[in-house]
Amino acid sequence: MTASTNAPKLDRYWMPFTANRQFKATPRLLAGAEGMYYTSDDGRRILDGTAGLWCVNAGHGRREIADAVGQQLRELDYAPSFQMGHPIAFRFAEELGDIAPGGLDRVFFTNSGSESVDTALKIALAYQKAIGQPGRTRLIGRERGYHGVGFGGISVGGLVNNRRTFGPLLPGTDHLRHTHDPAKNAFTKGLPQHGAELADDLERLVALHGADTIAAVIVEPVAGSTGVLLPPVGYLERLREIATRHGILLIFDEVITGFGRLGTPFATEYFRVKPDIVTTAKGLTNGAIPMGAVFASREVHDALVQGPEGMIELFHGYTYSGHPAACAAGLATLEIYRREGLLTRAASLAAHWEEAVHGLKSLPNVIDIRTIGLVAGVELAPREGAPGKRGYDVFVDCFNHGLGVRVTGDIMALSPPLIVEPAQIDAMVNMLGESIARVA
Ligand code: PMP
Repeated sequence: MTASTNAPKLDRYWMPFTANRQFKATPRLLAGAEGMYYTSDDGRRILDGTAGLWCVNAGHGRREIADAVGQQLRELDYAPSFQMGHPIAFRFAEELGDIAPGGLDRVFFTNSGSESVDTALKIALAYQKAIGQPGRTRLIGRERGYHGVGFGGISVGGLVNNRRTFGPLLPGTDHLRHTHDPAKNAFTKGLPQHGAELADDLERLVALHGADTIAAVIVEPVAGSTGVLLPPVGYLERLREIATRHGILLIFDEVITGFGRLGTPFATEYFRVKPDIVTTAKGLTNGAIPMGAVFASREVHDALVQGPEGMIELFHGYTYSGHPAACAAGLATLEIYRREGLLTRAASLAAHWEEAVHGLKSLPNVIDIRTIGLVAGVELAPREGAPGKRGYDVFVDCFNHGLGVRVTGDIMALSPPLIVEPAQIDAMVNMLGESIARVA
């Protein structure tokens, strides 16, 4: 494929989370994808080091998914999601229930991670009200947490850039401190040893606000988008214990960690901690069709799904909740995950992955490396006076040399499709290392 005659005009598409003017001066356009590789519009092969945006867990170009979506669209393209249903949404929820994180087998469909988060927060508020705790309206997130871009998600989220231009946001939110402490934990293999006591921040917020004002606390078990921040040993268990003791719901945002990223189907199994609600998206449909799903405990579900016969129980939902095409993509994706063992495959590659990525330790400017399952964060020292510049330069250099990586500030993230072969792991880590060295 060549860029020449069909090159698109770039002005009108206002790109999300992108420096538009800079991008349009030197665009990076991906025109095709198969397996572990993208093809750029000028015909170069680019190794996908990030499963798209952490979503293409089964690799690109899966015919079964395309076929299932096509067939579904021909059979039933759309049906109202309110007060009517269609069989495939029930089938998909049933199958998801069989692998539900922490046994949370009541499934609410959304169209994205952001919608899953806002849905989970609203369910938490409605639940507290339903069980006679209407004063519990506070939502607690964490610094450096990323929970999408809805008003709920940015309010509990902990990224300054995502919040500061959008006004006062939701009232009554507060944040735990983040757990990232390179001074104590740099280059640790496995989970950080130090920092479990940071979970006691929830006690601090309980003391400050009163437990009877707090509905829920939401965290990513492993913070992905903000630079692959791993929970210290014992941290999530402690958070669970404190939340339970104070009647606060615990929400895990598994939009990234769900569907095999850590080597278990969900982070709930990896950490053996059972939250009350789990948010997912991304790997749910292998990224092929936008979709999210919120998993709730029966206790939460049953508290809300009651009341007078014939009355709507939860005034919430989307035109495209459980869209037939998305459900078809999801069912085909689950079938691939099952057949190829992808939900646990990362576990068998994790040791190789960790060894390979930690091999970058001696490169210039590498100040920390973190890995878990098939995720890695490689933190670089910021250029003086220009935080994020080094990371961005490495990202561009990687792309120009045939590797797709993610960059957050000066942290490079890798999270390849779960079909990755050991030789491809070695290749992508080498390519990243070469870029880091070149940019230095
Ligand atoms: N939560 C987490 C943990 C995420 O990583 C993301 C996306 N990276 C979201 C929510 C938002 O998902 P979406 O972009 O699909 O709205």
